[in-house]
Parts: sequence; C-alpha cells; structure tokens
Amino acid sequence: MDMDKLVSLCKRRGFLFQSSEIYGGLNGFWDYGPLGVELKRNVKEAWWREMVTGHDDLDVLPGAPEPFEMTGLDTTIILHPQVWKCSGHYDLFHDYMVDCRESKKRYRHDQVRGRWLEAKGQTIFVTTQVGGDEGLAETQQRALKFFNLRAKDIEQLQWQGPLISLTTVKDFAPVLGPEAKTLGTLTEPREFNLMFKTYVGALSGEEGAAFLRPETAQGIFVNFKNVVDSTRVRVPFGIAQMGKSFRNEITPRNFTFRSREFEQMEIEFFCHPNSSPQWYKYWRDRRYQWYLNLGLEGERLRLRDHDPDELSHYSVGTADIEYAFPFLPPGEFGELEGIAHRGDFDLRSHMEGKLVRQGNELVVELDAEGKPKYRGSGKDLTYRDDLTNERFTPHVIEPSAGADRATLAFLCQAYTEDEAPDENGKMQQRVVMKFHPKIAPIKAAVFPLVKKDGMPEAAKDIYLALKKRFSVFYDEKGAVGRRYRRQDEAGTPYCVTVDGQTLTDQTVTVRDRDSLRQWRIKAADCVTEIARLIEGGDIG
Ligand code: ATP
Repeated sequence: MDMDKLVSLCKRRGFLFQSSEIYGGLNGFWDYGPLGVELKRNVKEAWWREMVTGHDDLDVLPGAPEPFEMTGLDTTIILHPQVWKCSGHYDLFHDYMVDCRESKKRYRHDQVRGRWLEAKGQTIFVTTQVGGDEGLAETQQRALKFFNLRAKDIEQLQWQGPLISLTTVKDFAPVLGPEAKTLGTLTEPREFNLMFKTYVGALSGEEGAAFLRPETAQGIFVNFKNVVDSTRVRVPFGIAQMGKSFRNEITPRNFTFRSREFEQMEIEFFCHPNSSPQWYKYWRDRRYQWYLNLGLEGERLRLRDHDPDELSHYSVGTADIEYAFPFLPPGEFGELEGIAHRGDFDLRSHMEGKLVRQGNELVVELDAEGKPKYRGSGKDLTYRDDLTNERFTPHVIEPSAGADRATLAFLCQAYTEDEAPDENGKMQQRVVMKFHPKIAPIKAAVFPLVKKDGMPEAAKDIYLALKKRFSVFYDEKGAVGRRYRRQDEAGTPYCVTVDGQTLTDQTVTVRDRDSLRQWRIKAADCVTEIARLIEGGDIG
C-alpha cells in the first residue's frame, strides 16, 4: 500500500490533520479530525472495555493461572519530579543525537544508516535516513553526486556492503551526513533527554522544574498503595490507565508513529513473584490476540521476544507486538506495544530510591558520599496476603500500548482499493476503509433514495432510532452511488437505504461495505439488525 495515498485520504476525509497547520504545522504533533476522533475513541474504548469494565474477574480465563481483578486510574501529566529521578528516567531516558555542522540538522544516532564505498581511490560512508531499496537508491544518487560522476559511470562506485547503522562507525571523518555535501560534518553522538521540562507555579528556577510524563506507568506505581488501601482488590490484580504522554523525540516521523505528544494505554499487573513468569506469558498472548480480534492481519502482526541483550537492566522478559507498517521497508516491523516482566523494580524504586543492577541484585544507587543518589518515598509498598499472611513486594507485568500507533495500524490495515459497480452497473475503482465494525467511526449511514415522496421522513425516523445507540450518519445529497462511495472511504460498515418499496411494505435495503451484498429488512428491525451485525449487539 502506498502510504502517501493513506496520508492524503486521512486529510481529505478528516481522520488526521497536522497540528497548527495554518501556521505551517508543528513537527511531531497531530490532530484527529471528525472521523479520526471517533476511530481513536473506539480503539481506546475497546481496550478499556475489554481490559477493565468488561473483564470477567470471577472465572479463570484461558491461559491465566487464576482469576484476577482489573481496575483503572486517571493520574496527572505532571508528577513530583522525584518520581522521574527514582524511576530512572531523569538519568537514563535519553537517545543519542548527532548534529550536522553543515546542514544544521539533527539526527537520532541509531536512525542514520549508510553504506561504505570506494571510488576514485577514496573510501567513504554515505548515509541516508531511509532503509530498504529507497535507501540504496538514495545513497547511490548521493555517491554519484559526491564523486561528480554521471549515471553511466555507476560501475566506478564499489560498494563494500549493505546498509548498516551509523552506530557501527567509530570515526566520522569519512562520513557523508544525510544532507551534507562534504565529509566529516557530523558531531560525536551526545545524550539528549527526551522528557519535556516545564516550570510549576511562579518559581522559574530549578526549584520549580518539573517534567511532562513520558509514560503513564509511573502514575500507577505511585498510587499502588492508595488503590490497595481504598479498594478490596487482592493480588493478583491490574491497574489500567490511558492518557497523554510526551517525548521530545529527536526525529518525529512516519506520520503519527513517532509523535512528540501521544496517548498510551498501559496496564501494571501486580502478582506474586512465584507466578509472575506465567502471568507474563498470559499477558503477552492475550494482548497479541486483542489486535488480531480487531482486524490486524496475522501476517503483518508479530509477537517478538527480546533477545537477552535487548532487555532493560531490570527485566526478566520482554516481548513486542509489532506491525509491518507500509512506510517500513519490506521485512521490517514497528512496535505497537511492549509487554515487560519488570520484577519488583518499580515498587522498590519508589520505596528505596533509584536502583542499579549489581551482579544479579538490584541495589540502591549511591552518590560519592555513599548516600542514596535519589531517595525513594520511604513508604511501605509491600503487600500482605490476608489469607496466607505472607508479606512480599509484588512483581509487575506491564503491557504498554500506544493508542495512536494502534489507530495508525488499523488505518493502514483498513485501506483497500477494489472495484464496485456504479449506478449503471459499470465497474469503477473504489477506495474503501475496511475497519472492524467495532472500531469503525460511523456504524451505519441512512439514505433516502431520493429527496421526495416521503422518503426523507421515513429515513429520518430510522436515523434517529439508530442514533440512540450508535454513531450514525444521515445523507440525502447527490446520487446514491456517490453517497455509498463517501461512506466506503469513511469505513462505514452498513448503509441503510429507504426507497419506493419502503413506503409500501416498510422494508429498507441494507448494504454491506465489504461484500457489497444488499438485502431487505423491516424498517422497524433496523436497530436490532445493525446491533446484531456489529458483533452480537454489544456495541452502544
Ligand atoms: P520506540 O522504541 O518505538 O521509541 P519505546 O520502546 O520507547 O518505542 P515504550 O517506552 O515501550 O516505547 O512505550 C510504549 C508504547 O508507547 C509503544 O509501544 C508505542 O505504542 C507508544 N509510543 C512510545 N513512543 C511513542 C511516540 N513517540 N509516538 C507514538 N507512540 C509512542
């Protein structure tokens, strides 16, 4: 699928707009339009319903070691600055950047790739920001230009290997930066903390400094005790939260995939250390299934366990759920969600202070004077099981998803070009967004075939009845074929049309977006029929 086509459809039909577009836009920030807001809300609602409000806490779910409870929270975006010191974000949440002295551009070190080549007796490393065939073509073009060669002299370029990361290059002197004309213009990689800094209250100095949260998870950990003390939840249980997170990404790109302001959907699941490996596996599989159930195709979705050397210093196991986004080179996948076994790292950090690994142990990091570098809260965040009387620090399994990345994956998956007959029965190309009905922005559209003979009145009655339960759309303008096409682009799964026959036998036509099948039902049955079609009538 051509990503440009999806991006232009998103703008044309009101799924996504660039933030502050009339002022030229702001890189890494996106607004959801009238259709986009419904789509994203449905994605979040599907997550919250399945993970929290609709969760069956009485039975043992398939693959789970025992029944468990799920509850939710909505915490603030700005937290006490000490939270980020103890969590490790203050010291460690950074990427490496390189600057180009010539183009004045800044790049994320690990996102620049390049190829070694020899020509005219000189060996250089030509870089690009894109991978795959596009990256090969771009480096070739740039190499020809650098060596002042024409396309017919291409055999003079002796490539010495495939595209590799700039992180493999030690000396930048022979490196041709992604937008540079001369060699050696890139600076040494430097750390860049991704947290947005702000100031709370009238204090503008360091005393008032605080950060916008780069993840929602910490708001959950610091409320663990509040939740245990104020509800009757017992370990094992999970706390879910969705909300905005902010990361000052060095190079936001690939549409909404890497934004600077985005929404996360996170669960912190607290369990006994002995059963945590089983819970880790349970959540890994359950979350993978969630995406499949909402329509992501198995071949483009994968569950990838991290290699031991990829794991964070505290993690026992981590897996990513990844999707083959069309903007990535063939064979490459982008992360939708990470599921991490975090042990007791987070609760201990907020009790004792920032932890570091020493051999197999996590110990409090000390400063030069032998005192804790960042002091924890000193509050007791252990848990006592009232049945066994055992006291322990729960282990945590964290399924951490991005609402925007999930929405983008559903948009990519939905985009389809096929053919449908027009009014005269002639096949025409159509663009159709094949969303799962559960997340489709509009569930049904209602049309009077023509704007007379009482058809609009009958259609309006049906529209208002459906509107009580679903997001529906009424349209009486233009040829009916055109109205169908517009709904296909919006991804509306069903269209209900009132025609001449309706006035004599009170039936209407229902049209299925994907199969184009049309059949008649009683007008009075519209609400139950659409509810049945949109998955067992449980959508409201
Ligand atoms: P990446 O390696 O792609 O930057 P990450 O591993 O840093 O992602 P996590 O810290 O695990 O991401 O965040 C959990 C989830 O939050 C991700 O799986 C993703 O869905 C979402 N997310 C993280 N950063 C961004 C971003 N800049 N824009 C949109 N979504 C994001």
